[in-house]
Amino acid sequence: MFSFRRTAPRPAGEDVFLTIDGAQVRIRLRRDRRARRLTLRLPADGGDPVVTMPVGESVAAARRFVSREQAWLAARLKGRPGVVPFTDGAIVPFRGVDHELVHRGRARGTVSIEADAFPPRLCVVGAPEHMARRLTDWMKRQAKADLLAAVERHAGRLGVAPAAIHVRDTTSRWGSCSSSGTLSFSWRLVLAPPDILDYVAAHEVAHLREMNHSPRFWALVHELTPNADPARLWLRRHGPSLHAYGQSQAG
Ligand SMILES: [Zn+2]
Repeated sequence: MFSFRRTAPRPAGEDVFLTIDGAQVRIRLRRDRRARRLTLRLPADGGDPVVTMPVGESVAAARRFVSREQAWLAARLKGRPGVVPFTDGAIVPFRGVDHELVHRGRARGTVSIEADAFPPRLCVVGAPEHMARRLTDWMKRQAKADLLAAVERHAGRLGVAPAAIHVRDTTSRWGSCSSSGTLSFSWRLVLAPPDILDYVAAHEVAHLREMNHSPRFWALVHELTPNADPARLWLRRHGPSLHAYGQSQAG
């Protein structure tokens, strides 16, 4: 229960298309009850640019706004890291270390790590069209194993026990703790350095004792991990880029 919470603005029913540097760019229009003015942003997960509109604003006004912001958008799109799909040759972080993805024929099996190579390799076997799915499933299993170990360690220190632990592909939060004591985490934490995953596990375990972000809660977190402050900073800076890997959640 930290980081940003994504509100769910409603689609305005129309998208705007612009031609920027010869490529057609779709800009999605979203109405948001809380919006006071038109804003344009680029989602960190590599998805289409989004214009957020106040409820009463017209689509025509949104179009004029977008054309006024065209130069800004073009500059931002140029400097933006692209989406990195799980395909042969892609460089993908795993436990904080960049790995090269290598497709290894149609043999049976799953994913193996060649740690001696430079960069180290994540080798995925099977049909190429199943590579992304296979690697994603494997990443989720590694994430779950790492998170179970971290949660068990932290929970043991506090003398608490979660009701259940889920690993999901959440885009809005790295972890959460329900009132019934169920902890949920994003599998993408396994892409980050181990200290980061460990901090998120400690944070959610601390919520089993303190269901708030009070000074008492933060004291518990600091008792569990010395990494809380640098990890929060890391997540703020680099967390959004973790959503660029594998299957895009955009849409
Ligand atoms: Zn929290």
